[in-house]
Amino acid sequence: MLTEKQKEALRALPAVSTILQLPEVKKLIESSPLNLVSDIISKTIEIEREKILQSDTPTVLSLSTILEKISHQYKRLTTPHLRSVVNGTGVILHTNLGRAKLSNESILAAQLAATDYTNLEYTLSTGKRGSRYDHVEDLLVQLTGAEAALVVNNNASAVILILKEMAQGKEVIVSRGQLVEIGGSFRVSEIMAQSGAHLMEVGTTNKTHRYDYERAITDQTGLLMKVHTSNFKIIGFTKEVCLKTLVEIGKEHQIPVYEDLGSGVLYDFKKHGIGNEPTVQETVKAGADLVSFSGDKLLGGPQAGIIVGKKKWIDRLKKNQLTRSLRVDKMTLAALEATLRHYLLEEAQDKIPTLKMILMKEKIIEEKSEKLYSMLKPVIAEQFEMKIIDGFSEIGGGSMPDVQLLTKLISIKPKHIPVHRFEEALRITSPHIIGRISDEQFFLDVRTIEPKEFDLIVEKIQWIAKN
Ligand SMILES: *Cc1c(COP(=O)(O)O)cnc(C)c1O
Repeated sequence: MLTEKQKEALRALPAVSTILQLPEVKKLIESSPLNLVSDIISKTIEIEREKILQSDTPTVLSLSTILEKISHQYKRLTTPHLRSVVNGTGVILHTNLGRAKLSNESILAAQLAATDYTNLEYTLSTGKRGSRYDHVEDLLVQLTGAEAALVVNNNASAVILILKEMAQGKEVIVSRGQLVEIGGSFRVSEIMAQSGAHLMEVGTTNKTHRYDYERAITDQTGLLMKVHTSNFKIIGFTKEVCLKTLVEIGKEHQIPVYEDLGSGVLYDFKKHGIGNEPTVQETVKAGADLVSFSGDKLLGGPQAGIIVGKKKWIDRLKKNQLTRSLRVDKMTLAALEATLRHYLLEEAQDKIPTLKMILMKEKIIEEKSEKLYSMLKPVIAEQFEMKIIDGFSEIGGGSMPDVQLLTKLISIKPKHIPVHRFEEALRITSPHIIGRISDEQFFLDVRTIEPKEFDLIVEKIQWIAKN
């Protein structure tokens, strides 16, 4: 039985045909598909009807409220959902904000691959069918010193492919200290189960010795795997078996050795005193049969999973049926090729945004902070306390977690509204500006903000100050 209030609310709901006759809606239909508009109208009314039936004391909606809901839904569907944001967090490879920004050359290459027909799988010299993997294999071989290379959709899929081809139905020996979880969705142990390989954990969380591996080897062992634990650090009383030793063990027992590097570093940050990441080149040189890493972490390219190693194994991976399902897109390949060429020409540190942000000189950061401060000062003098303070940027993306890069933060403290309201106002409407809150202050790290974005920040904060 319906309550009186429910009956009243139902009676107040307009018919689709009534709404279609409203002047605002008629105007909308002139410039957009009738089907879309009437579908949104009927769905909105249906949702409201359901709400009325669920509540004994529903609100009686006015026509204008319903129109607002319709208009809101229309806007939601017809404006881009993926938006640009200004990254003021200081986290360079922010996974939630899309990780690496591409170089101009990579963007142009991706655009060309999207716009034109290309020789993606076509050999120009013979006019015959070619392979999409040829476009980057030579570059990867040249850069890493490996015999061969293959690129798939992302590093997680590279891991699955390798485990499946090399160790399906066999045992894979991994140190317990390396059974990492990356971003909540990628667990080495689960990937292992999915690929049909059996995980053989050895050692303890903090210590694994050479003899732990040697004792675990049986005629069922298919692979020795090392996972580069770049996204967490066990500090203190620890022991890991280094790749060189693992390679020795592998040779002795004729078992291939694979290292999942996570973040693939082709540029040696160590020489600037930043972090302690092994480069891909060093890992290949140490004798790993296969190495895999991400395209969009420290490499600074598009999302991809890059596999390099011995030709014998790469050839097998190329033939695996799964490789077809993990196939990398043409725009990605184009962007990756351009990114890799920056390394080849030794211009990566000047062209690739990720590298530029990591290596940004303190003086440049200081100048940027002073510039943004001076632009903000006149527009927000009254309502905010603002200062420049020292802070740290993070590399992010699970890469080099122990590295803290000295930076400058613009600290803003609103005097009349709570800081979280200020943060919300900056974030929710366009231009979307993302920063961080701590100690009742809002912080913008200038390292990850481009000078061309300063105007957006100034206009937005000016707008907030006025509203
Ligand atoms: C990030 C990471 C992955 C997953 O790489 P994606 O390219 O994000 O799929 C796998 N292994 C390790 C060790 C990682 O750090």
